[in-house]
Amino acid sequence: MTTTPERTTTQVLVIGSGAGGSVTALELARAGLDVVVLEEGKRNDPAKDYGLGTTESMRRLYRRRGMTPILGSVPIGYVEGRCVGGSTEINSGFWHRTPREVLARWRAQFDLEGASAEELAPHFDWAEELLGVNVSGKPWPKSTEVFARGVDAMGWAAQEVARAAVGCQRTNQCAMGCSRKAKRGMSVTAVPAAEEAGARFLTGAHVKMLMKRDGRITGVLAEVDLEDGTRKLVRIDAEHVFVCAGPTETPSLLRRSGIKFHVGDTLRIHPMLKVLARFPERIDAYDTVLPLLQVREFAPEVSLGGAFFTTGHAAMSLSDNWDPALMKNVANMGGYYVAVRGRGRGQVRPSLLGEDATTIRYELADEDLVNLSDGLARLATLLLAAGATEVYPTVHGMAPIRSEKEAIRWLDDRLPRSALSLTTVHAFSACPLGERSDRCAADSYGKVARFANLYVNDASMLPDSPGVNPQGSVMAFARRNALHFLSQLN
Ligand SMILES: Cc1cc2nc3c(=O)[nH]c(=O)nc-3n(C[C@H](O)[C@H](O)[C@H](O)COP(=O)(O)OP(=O)(O)OC[C@H]3O[C@@H](n4cnc5c(N)ncnc54)[C@H](O)[C@@H]3O)c2cc1C
Repeated sequence: MTTTPERTTTQVLVIGSGAGGSVTALELARAGLDVVVLEEGKRNDPAKDYGLGTTESMRRLYRRRGMTPILGSVPIGYVEGRCVGGSTEINSGFWHRTPREVLARWRAQFDLEGASAEELAPHFDWAEELLGVNVSGKPWPKSTEVFARGVDAMGWAAQEVARAAVGCQRTNQCAMGCSRKAKRGMSVTAVPAAEEAGARFLTGAHVKMLMKRDGRITGVLAEVDLEDGTRKLVRIDAEHVFVCAGPTETPSLLRRSGIKFHVGDTLRIHPMLKVLARFPERIDAYDTVLPLLQVREFAPEVSLGGAFFTTGHAAMSLSDNWDPALMKNVANMGGYYVAVRGRGRGQVRPSLLGEDATTIRYELADEDLVNLSDGLARLATLLLAAGATEVYPTVHGMAPIRSEKEAIRWLDDRLPRSALSLTTVHAFSACPLGERSDRCAADSYGKVARFANLYVNDASMLPDSPGVNPQGSVMAFARRNALHFLSQLN
């Protein structure tokens, strides 16, 4: 590392190449602006670098090799992407538009302008076309079929969720990067389109700090990986800076740079409790795509659906009540989840422990516990009605659920906090948008309060939990904001 940074200049700097960053880069480059994207992770070749198995994929594609804890009275395991394309490279591609009711709430609670269902519709249309969002249709894999059987038995509303996965061959690689390029992450959609329009992507470039003067960002300091394994400090000056480093790293970077106004104080997540269900017949869940249906009967507070499944994931889910003999039945198991909207609030702070590390906290709300308990009752009932003989929740010390009576008790009883093993892959809202200066970090279109040329444009901007898989919301808002920014340029 040199002590005197090299210096270069661009018109627009975008930090992060995930759902928010690559859409921002694409629209601004298409409008003819000079755009540089700084991405901390590496660029990967799907044919060579994707689908390599859980451990290797986590090393290559995940932040902190997939081990990011969210601290609180109930610790929660969190993962996000760290590569070109960000978390869209390792996600399942499930697609939802932001529900109308959620948008109405954001309008009421945050004075969010220009974000009605009608105003966002063209941006969703655009993103859905870019990613080829569609439903996969029947015949469904066995893990979906048995879930559908349970839904029918319960008489609940459920839907096959559309996905950004045109021509998905059900190879079960979503979380390891899709080597067939069927899962349409940003690296095979918005990133190449942005490059074609002239945007330049610098990878292995970790932004350490934003430089500011008189209410403007003048540029950033970034550490760039070199081919010989060393790193170089680079200063890049820019007229406009879009921070799109994701739901936890955007607030961390802003705070590290001394930008703290309503930043990092309102993290929201969708806490998730997983279960394994064992069926009399073979499911072979590890050989196919994850279950494609979601039960929305109890939405937006509670959703039930299917989880990514490998033998390793199954072992992890069973580890709370480990019995190695159970692994003999793994071919007869499927993985499912209860996800709740998350009423608690979290905090994101640069960590005092390590350079550029981030500390994330979230305190599980009492409503979350109620919803997780109710959700487990309903999910276990559904799976038993589908023919499962046992349901194994990721709750330490809890016996497998074998009967409707054992399942339904969780409608009245509460799961023990200290025994829960929770995870999440959905985080947002640490830099909320809106016109309410008493609670928003940025205006309705992402311009950060008190700065003339600084924007947030990723999951951190969603004012509150969307209650559905968030990638669609992130992309639609990011495009809306990018076009609004262009309309304001002289
Ligand atoms: C396993 C998994 C499954 C998921 N499944 C779904 C799903 O099925 N459907 C859905 O809608 N959503 C899903 N999500 C969530 C969805 O992918 C995210 O909400 C979305 O990608 C967030 O977009 P973003 O732009 O905020 O962040 P990201 O897409 O994570 O991109 C942020 C980028 O910024 C980079 N970065 C961070 N800090 C810096 C820095 N200091 N300098 C330079 N670069 C930096 C990161 O490396 C990363 O590439 C899933 C997520 C995961 C992890």
